[in-house]
Amino acid sequence: MAHEPLQRQLAGPVRFAEPMWRHTTWRIGGPAEIFVEPTSLEDLRAAIHYARQHGLPLTVIGNGSNVLVLDEGIPGLVVRIGPRLGGVTVRDHSVTAGAGTRLGQLAEAAREAGLAGLEFLAGIPGTVGGAVAVNAGAHGLAVGDRLSRVTVVDRAGNCHVKGPEELEFAYRSSNVGARGWIVVAAEFGLGCGDPASIRRTMEEYLRKRRQTQPLDLPSAGSVFKNPPQGPPAGWLVEMAGGKGLRVGGAMVSPVHANFVVNTGGATARDVLTLIERVRELVYRRFGVYLALEVQVLGGGRGAGEEMCQDWSSKAAGASGEPSA
Ligand SMILES: Cc1cc2nc3c(=O)[nH]c(=O)nc-3n(C[C@H](O)[C@H](O)[C@H](O)COP(=O)(O)OP(=O)(O)OC[C@H]3O[C@@H](n4cnc5c(N)ncnc54)[C@H](O)[C@@H]3O)c2cc1C
Repeated sequence: MAHEPLQRQLAGPVRFAEPMWRHTTWRIGGPAEIFVEPTSLEDLRAAIHYARQHGLPLTVIGNGSNVLVLDEGIPGLVVRIGPRLGGVTVRDHSVTAGAGTRLGQLAEAAREAGLAGLEFLAGIPGTVGGAVAVNAGAHGLAVGDRLSRVTVVDRAGNCHVKGPEELEFAYRSSNVGARGWIVVAAEFGLGCGDPASIRRTMEEYLRKRRQTQPLDLPSAGSVFKNPPQGPPAGWLVEMAGGKGLRVGGAMVSPVHANFVVNTGGATARDVLTLIERVRELVYRRFGVYLALEVQVLGGGRGAGEEMCQDWSSKAAGASGEPSA
């Protein structure tokens, strides 16, 4: 294998042709050419350096809960920032978490310390790094609202500490991906709260999710962003008749119309075909092109970005205003 030397440079596992369905909550995705899980900052730097040296594209994932990996897989190096780069430290009114920390673990650690402000993370199945990159949120709050500092590594392997104002947070987006930064840690500034009442709020959020989301089948959460004005994406899909629509193993959830679930054996192609059908239905009925919330990875260099650019030029030509 041409890239065997990488195994000697990293303490963490290095795998070749690793099936990405194992690393996404949709349980969909072709093979990563090379898949690594760094165990330390040094490991991460070695992986970045190796990718640069060999001209390999580098893709970062966390828990794979907001991505669609194409069936062709991902060329180059995939770096998974997982629990090996996780861990939470509490100090006074701030909580610092490694990028691989699961959001539930972070919210629990804050609650135990009597710190309020991260309850909204309960039930979001991502990592801290992924949540910063996409500015994950719920119940009117997003990660960017609570961040005080983020440590990132750039594609030359250098560390930088950034304030939230440098990350250009917007609805479900930041400039982390565009800058090629890899989040390694994040610090949250929080207020005091009563652990029992924090727990009640978190339990209430979890209960609402169990009631309104199809948590029994693999998915990536909301597929589409809510349009800037007007009703939310799920409502538009439901009213356009999208609920229950199927392509292969992919189905628009009858429980929540903004979720596409994998009913068994769905491919990325199934999901993308279904997404296009749903977009068309919504456009015909309401004149709104829905933008993707999930990020498309793989299929060749820049395939995901091309798809998004193609999409944004279409969306720019549309009114964005519901017509009914
Ligand atoms: C059932 C369900 C419910 C959900 N509910 C919500 C919700 O309420 N609100 C919400 O916002 N989302 C929700 N999601 C989507 C998802 O859980 C969040 O967006 C989450 O924050 C993604 O984190 P991740 O670690 O899984 O990132 P991934 O899906 O692995 O990656 C997402 C993006 O972040 C980048 N990325 C990942 N880690 C890093 C890193 N360390 N440094 C730089 N870039 C990185 C990736 O390249 C990719 O572009 C839900 C998903 C599911 C399956």
